Amino acid sequence: MTEPVISVRGLTKSFGNLDVLKGIDLDLMPGEVLGLIGPSGSGKSTLIRCLNMMETPTGGKFLFKGKEVSPRFRGKGGSIGTGDLRREVGMVFQHFNLFPHLSVLDNITKGPRTVLKQPRAEAEAVAMDLLAQVGLADKASAYPSHLSGGQKQRVAIARSLAMKPEVLLLDEVTSALDPELVGEVLGVIRRLADQGMTMVLVTHEMGFAADVASRVIFMEQGRIAEEGSPEDILRNPRSDRLRGFLSRFHG
Ligand code: ADP
Ligand code: MG
Repeated sequence: MTEPVISVRGLTKSFGNLDVLKGIDLDLMPGEVLGLIGPSGSGKSTLIRCLNMMETPTGGKFLFKGKEVSPRFRGKGGSIGTGDLRREVGMVFQHFNLFPHLSVLDNITKGPRTVLKQPRAEAEAVAMDLLAQVGLADKASAYPSHLSGGQKQRVAIARSLAMKPEVLLLDEVTSALDPELVGEVLGVIRRLADQGMTMVLVTHEMGFAADVASRVIFMEQGRIAEEGSPEDILRNPRSDRLRGFLSRFHG
């Protein structure tokens, strides 16, 4: 039996008296691409931020490869601490968050060199390989300000991959891009999916979610409202709410 990479039960998150996540149960299996859809404010970003402890959950159970994730322990008692978790669970954001004062190559090698203590030559070899994979081998010495949004996002994905994460979380990574640049980023994600990368993908690109996701979750008001295959969720929605939500994307 295969063990989930990430398993959460009854996960809650509140900001003051605002209850944003109201009890999420979720198993993410190795190689699975989980599409997360739902209206703005439904808690999608908060959920995936909890999955790499950028937000500390208020309650519930969170296991990474069977080990309890805990901000208070550092590998003691069979648990895994926040730092170790973040190494295994990479995140790519809507707004890239590249370091503007570093070249593309240095953006990618910074984490591996400082956190993983990789020697420069090794880190740079890995980075060049990743840049080739995202079609940007010729941009290694460029600075982020000289790149298009699509190129910046591909660098951001390469930077996350350089840490050799077990899971990649992608939060609306094409939302800030001009429409003609969306395809090049989706192409990179598509190839990662084909290579078996485990991913959670928050997206408004319903066609892409239908195409690449192995499972889709529809979130509403801090809960999982519907869950199933892309076919079930996107083409045969059961609830009026999901139907209404999807109808906004069909023009
Ligand atoms: P989504 O990504 O689905 O649009 P979010 O997870 O960003 O939703 O937000 C869900 C709710 O949580 C929103 O009402 C938002 O205002 C609130 N929220 C998110 N982050 C914070 C925070 N750091 N402090 C207070 N409220 C927050
Ligand atoms: Mg969001």
